Amino acid sequence: MKSYALILQPKSFAAKLYGVVALAFAAVVGVSLMSMLYVYQARQATERLKVYSLKSAGLAADLEILLERHRRIVESAPVQLHRVLDDSNRRVLEDIAEQMLAMSAVRDDALLQDVQQKLPDLIQKSRDVFRLAANFAGDEAIKVAKDYSETAELLQGRIHVYRTERLREISRETARLNARGQAVTNWIMAGSVMVLVLLGPLLVLLINSIVMRLKGITVTMTRLAQNETTIPVPSARDSDEVGDIARAVQVFKSNAIQLRRSHNEIEKLNQWFKIALNNMARGLSMFDADQRLIVCNSEYQQLYGLPDALTRPGTRFSTIIEYWDQGREQDLSREVWRWLDRHAANIQEGDDFTRLQSLPNGRTLSVTCQPLPDGGWVDVHEDVTEKHRSEIRIRELAEFDTLTGLANRHHFHEHLNELLSSLVNTGGFAMLWLDLDHFKVVNDTLGHPAGDALLKAVSLRLKSALRASDFVARLGGDEFAIIQGGSNIGNAAAIALADRLIATVSEPYQIFGQSITIGGSVGIALAPQHGTSAEELLKNGDIALYKAKSAGRGTSVMFAPEFENALKARRTIETDLKRAVAAGELELHYQPILDLKSGRVTGCEALMRWRHPERGMIPPFEFIPVAESIGIIGEMGAWALLEACKAAVDWPSQTSVAVNLSAAQFSTRDLAADVQAALEASGLAPQRLELEITETVLLDDDPATLATLTALSQSGVSIALDDFGTGYASLSYLRSFPFNKIKIDQTFVRDLPDRSNCVAIVSAVASLARTLGMKTVAEGVETSAHLYLVTCAGCDEVQGYLFSRPVPAAEILERFAASERVFAHAA
Ligand code: C2E
Ligand code: CA
Ligand code: CA
Repeated sequence: MKSYALILQPKSFAAKLYGVVALAFAAVVGVSLMSMLYVYQARQATERLKVYSLKSAGLAADLEILLERHRRIVESAPVQLHRVLDDSNRRVLEDIAEQMLAMSAVRDDALLQDVQQKLPDLIQKSRDVFRLAANFAGDEAIKVAKDYSETAELLQGRIHVYRTERLREISRETARLNARGQAVTNWIMAGSVMVLVLLGPLLVLLINSIVMRLKGITVTMTRLAQNETTIPVPSARDSDEVGDIARAVQVFKSNAIQLRRSHNEIEKLNQWFKIALNNMARGLSMFDADQRLIVCNSEYQQLYGLPDALTRPGTRFSTIIEYWDQGREQDLSREVWRWLDRHAANIQEGDDFTRLQSLPNGRTLSVTCQPLPDGGWVDVHEDVTEKHRSEIRIRELAEFDTLTGLANRHHFHEHLNELLSSLVNTGGFAMLWLDLDHFKVVNDTLGHPAGDALLKAVSLRLKSALRASDFVARLGGDEFAIIQGGSNIGNAAAIALADRLIATVSEPYQIFGQSITIGGSVGIALAPQHGTSAEELLKNGDIALYKAKSAGRGTSVMFAPEFENALKARRTIETDLKRAVAAGELELHYQPILDLKSGRVTGCEALMRWRHPERGMIPPFEFIPVAESIGIIGEMGAWALLEACKAAVDWPSQTSVAVNLSAAQFSTRDLAADVQAALEASGLAPQRLELEITETVLLDDDPATLATLTALSQSGVSIALDDFGTGYASLSYLRSFPFNKIKIDQTFVRDLPDRSNCVAIVSAVASLARTLGMKTVAEGVETSAHLYLVTCAGCDEVQGYLFSRPVPAAEILERFAASERVFAHAA
């Protein structure tokens, strides 16, 4: 059993086959050896037969025949009377005798030796017969012949026996050969049968075992191919070639598992990709280098209204285009194909690009194309119809002011540039820059809708006051620009128009049932006299307007080159101021504030001064706006805070110091930190510091500003609303922050004696402030009358030249007593 297993399960299938072949070879060799042995024996037997038996038998036969002839001649000799014949017979006889002697001499054989011995005697006798017969001794001859016959007979008998013996020998030998041949045939038969019997089943077993195992592997392979990766691979542990195949299949299987896993992963990714693709807000299409669709999403299908058939991979780009382009007018269609050509050309260049694509259904798509390295491309399609429409609208808006319908600043600039570029032909024009006076008041007091209505009304009036050749634009806010066309517009015509326009806009308006009156100021610049570039002309127009406004509003001013000097002066201040701050040319003056009840100084307002080395003392209204515009007010404000706090420390402990703040200090600096630093550096109690802010600080409604104010207020610092009443919206700001103080602007105080409504306003404000828990300070009290009236109006504190002008820090303490004396006297 073990050896059987060894044969059937050797290390290799080849070894098994070699074993079987070796067995077959051994069997063939055995049979061959047997055949060779047989052939050898047969050849020996034949040799024997040929050399001895056959030759001997033949010799014996020949001898017998010769002897017979010899005998016949000898026996007939006594009766032969014919001499001639007798002689010839004698010669024949001699011949025969010679042959017989020769024959008998050939073989060394007992029988032939016997014959050989007797032959000479016989021949002698034959010769005697003939001699006797020839001598006519007939009887004698017959007698000898008789003797001869006896001997011959004897000899013949011997030869016959010999021949018979040899023949028997031959037949014996032949029989033996036959028997051997049969034996060999039997052996070959037996050998063949043995080979068949032995090798047949062995081969069958072998083949069967191989085939069965191969079949198992084939089945496994088939099932693996059908993705049944759980099936075990048979024969994988076998060490022969089938085992090798099985192990190869095992590798195939693990590859298949791996493949299946990756396939699943790819499938999953594919699923996600599809979901992502079809949930994209934009259409996506991808084409290969042959302009055939690789993939597209449902949004793409929807955008172009494609049937399912046209969304299959492989669909030609042109087929899709042809489909969605059908029904378009001829011209547009050609446009689409041109677009296509450009598309292809751009893809060739390899840069991504975005194009607008209008569809026959009126939609507009933005197509962003990203060429791919292999020559294909990805398009992302977005429906931008609404955006496109609004862009057109925006373009309209870009040129026209939405509120008034007039050209806007941008359009104005374009028009201006256009005119300037054709100055030689047109001969010149005037540019009028109109700014409404007190428009802000309307806006602030009556609200924006009223302001808008007013602007519309102004626009209408301007339009109707102008000729068709003129151009009017709203530059923003309450600023308008008019270009006066016509040939050779001079000073007079421009000023006349300006004055007419001012008169027109200054007529009262009826807005929301209210009569409103505003004014206007106009700056005029002429082209080409005052400028050949838009920049120059605008700058000069601006300077003229500035001049008109500072000249008291409601007027028009024609630009003059000397105005520029004023501007230059401002530039000088700008550069000078920077230096001054660094050089310490700024100082603070202080103006006392007195309590109306007690008549005592409660504190001072710190007011900034610039001690210019050449120009002397410069008032704040000349340099504070400059400092604000060039962005150094923050630094200056921080300095003022520190300086004021340091000064106040030396004052009586119940007095405080008020410091003015600019809006920029809130937006560009950490004001709370500046205040904290000033208080810490000086050691002043926060309760002794007051910060004065104007409405402009609160204008933006910035939560950060309110937060800063609240934080400051919580730290103990007082907050005062300065210049109350000048902004015309002041009342509304009272509610936006719990100020500690309201400083009523000096313009009200100044007008108190002449305008009774001023008294009413001031008393109303004072009582409102009181209910809100705020104190009121009347600024600009210059006379006893002012003092009387503000006292009557119910203000709490006063400040003004009546008591003291702002004085340097060194003089302020002595001003306290002086002011109180003045108050006591005036009261
Ligand atoms: P303001 O805050 O309204 O200051 C009061 C102004 O009225 C001061 O002018 C003061 O000299 C003036 N004044 C006081 N009493 C009378 C009076 O009885 N009659 C008249 N006609 N005027 C009187 P000043 O010093 O020229 O300051 C002008 C403005 O400059 C201030 O107006 C304030 O807004 C600003 N300012 C002054 N110092 C500073 C400062 O340190 N920082 C900031 N941001 N602004 C400052
Ligand atoms: Ca002030
Ligand atoms: Ca003030």
